[in-house]
Amino acid sequence: MVDNAAAAPRALRCVIAIVGRRNAGKSSLINALTGQEVAIVSTQAGTTTDAVAKPYELLPLGPVTFYDTAGLDDEGELGALRIKATHKVLAKSDIAVVVCGEGGIGSSEKEIIAKVQAMDVPFLVVFNKTDCHAPTINDIDFCRSRNIRFIEVSAQKNRNIDELKQAIVDTVPADFKKDPLLAGDLFEEGETVVLVVPIDLSAPKGRLILPQVQVLREILDRNAVAVTAKECNLAQALDNQKNKPSLVITDSQVIKKVSAIVPADIRLTTFSILFARNKGDLKIMVDGARRIDSLQDGDKILIAEACSHHVLSDDIGKVKIPNWMKQYTGKNLQFDFCQGADFPENLEDYALVVHCGACMLNRVEMVRRLHECVRRGVPITNYGVAISKTQGVLDRVVAPFKL
Ligand code: SF4
Repeated sequence: MVDNAAAAPRALRCVIAIVGRRNAGKSSLINALTGQEVAIVSTQAGTTTDAVAKPYELLPLGPVTFYDTAGLDDEGELGALRIKATHKVLAKSDIAVVVCGEGGIGSSEKEIIAKVQAMDVPFLVVFNKTDCHAPTINDIDFCRSRNIRFIEVSAQKNRNIDELKQAIVDTVPADFKKDPLLAGDLFEEGETVVLVVPIDLSAPKGRLILPQVQVLREILDRNAVAVTAKECNLAQALDNQKNKPSLVITDSQVIKKVSAIVPADIRLTTFSILFARNKGDLKIMVDGARRIDSLQDGDKILIAEACSHHVLSDDIGKVKIPNWMKQYTGKNLQFDFCQGADFPENLEDYALVVHCGACMLNRVEMVRRLHECVRRGVPITNYGVAISKTQGVLDRVVAPFKL
């Protein structure tokens, strides 16, 4: 049987961090929420080291991942590492559940709440262990006076756990409760959308990639007609249509060729542009791409990828984009590369960050990365938008959107 919660793509699941001090009962709470033993539960404080992920189907929301994190009051050198790991989880979380144990809201909990608020992560407070210790009037006043949602539960006695699930659903950002649009606002029911999908060496064997499948599904969900062709068959596919297609969506890597084939009166965009809008802020990324025009000799560019993967000889991030940017600008640009969850500390050294398509990140994580760059005054764009810029078609592919 397929576990739907585990099978959902990483970027589509809501990430929920369970945070609090050591021994507040975070692990027991996840066990009660998921009905499974997923974390080591011990009466000894500080048992949880690295964050433990538990996929779960939280209805009516859908697939979520609970992260059981180390206590934010951990001590010593190892404790500092654990706290760092917990902060990393918080940075990619859509919501946080702040768990209070028998001590209620003390200085640690106040620090945790301040941290979560500073990171702009929606949260709720859970008073756990209420079978032994009810929250004090001061604890309740603390939450009420600050409009903080709270709930009293006992993970041990399974008390108020369904109510907690509902409170979590109520706290989840609206983005997760509505169907995120990719291209659905760009065409009407019954219209034809042409998808251009190159099948080259980088295409996975025997299947389409997730962004292509997601766009295709959205077209079908909206009762429009999808026509899919490789770039070499595109002209023929367009000729075959009795009615003019309302939109052509292409892989960015063949945008120049496709742009030359698609008549000017048919709107054209790329999968990358759709995902840049869906997953982040298209305007920030288009502004970032326009920065390419003013790059100078010696400027440093950071190519940032959200995960590590096998590098091909003509790798898009390592080879193609640097070459296109050098060709387009005619400048001697310097490229650095980073992969994984973190930007380098010296972000301000870069004239521009060019980010990958972020298929492994959710919207919240990507928006945080964009805002970190904006806050530090570093322009950021992504692969697809940068490619369209260097191929001279940026204005055309962003024309369908109101920026
Ligand atoms: S687009 Fe980014 S996150 Fe997705 S596979 Fe490539 S490097 Fe990883």
